[in-house]
Amino acid sequence: MTESKMKSILSKTFTCCSITLLSLWGTSSFAEQVIFVSCDGLRPDAITALGEEGAPNFHRLRREGAFTDNARTDATYTVTLPNHTAMVTSRGVVGKDGHNWIANGDPRLGQNLHRNKKAYLESVFAVAHDHGLRTALYASKSKFSLYDISYDERTGKEDTTGPDNGKDKIDVYEMNADTSILVDSFLSAETAEPFDFAMLHLKDCDSTGHAESWNLTSGSPYLATAKKVDGLIGKLIAGIETAPKLKGQTWLVVTADHGGLTGTKGHGESKEQDNYTIPFYVWGPGVPAGKDLYELNPTRENPGTENPAYGSGSVPIRNGDAGNLALKLLGLPPIPGSTINAEQDLVVTD
Ligand SMILES: [Zn+2]
Repeated sequence: MTESKMKSILSKTFTCCSITLLSLWGTSSFAEQVIFVSCDGLRPDAITALGEEGAPNFHRLRREGAFTDNARTDATYTVTLPNHTAMVTSRGVVGKDGHNWIANGDPRLGQNLHRNKKAYLESVFAVAHDHGLRTALYASKSKFSLYDISYDERTGKEDTTGPDNGKDKIDVYEMNADTSILVDSFLSAETAEPFDFAMLHLKDCDSTGHAESWNLTSGSPYLATAKKVDGLIGKLIAGIETAPKLKGQTWLVVTADHGGLTGTKGHGESKEQDNYTIPFYVWGPGVPAGKDLYELNPTRENPGTENPAYGSGSVPIRNGDAGNLALKLLGLPPIPGSTINAEQDLVVTD
């Protein structure tokens, strides 16, 4: 049994004495945590185009972890906030069960996920926090304030799971458009006192894609930026490996919100294969080395060149799997109301 699983069972079972036990556990050296990274606008074939030399860290994740370069975005949207909302809620965008957040700018005054949905939307942050875990969101675009304002002291739901951990479900929210500074800031917090669940958003590939196109020819600005993002992933790996509190007990889950089109400066056309094809990499304790995630997962079907509709019978691996996967790794139940990986049956460890 993992320590976090223990934590969650304890927090469910006990009320008064669990506080003492949890604080004892908090000082142990075998806590496990998840760092979830979304590389905005990263095409998986950029990693291939850069090769081992140009993208040594992504290649290391491929070699030492389980991955696919043929994961999918949401079935109908290939833009940023709808897909990130899919990741944190493990729901599709549209329909009765969807999270319904289709806007892609800074949230308008008074708006939040729940008001827009006309119902409370649970999330990976809320489930982790309600179970007594520490959470964080480090983002590089201002519109990610959507998650902060949807799970703060005012808008977060009462915690009725075990001890009351409060309504603010994201313990630390930080925004910095400079991803090098953002990663440094995250690592300094993470190595000092690890978050149980942290989400990190790196905007770089998307910014260059919009400015210069998703051009994968050698020496292109887009590839140079993908290389920079590879370096940031390398910093994270080095941070994990040099921190005693992280080494050997941290999972890195890396995906993207969408790809982008070569020759244009956009990614909004949701029927385009290059927009809906994204990477999904998992690295950490128990993750088999060099495994194809589709081979590991008989419940998932490699979608080939398609992006199947929800409920069509063919279930690909999607970025929306991430929320419920992170909770499973932490020994926690799925996000209430979620529809993607709701059985937490995406297998990433032996
Ligand atoms: Zn994006």
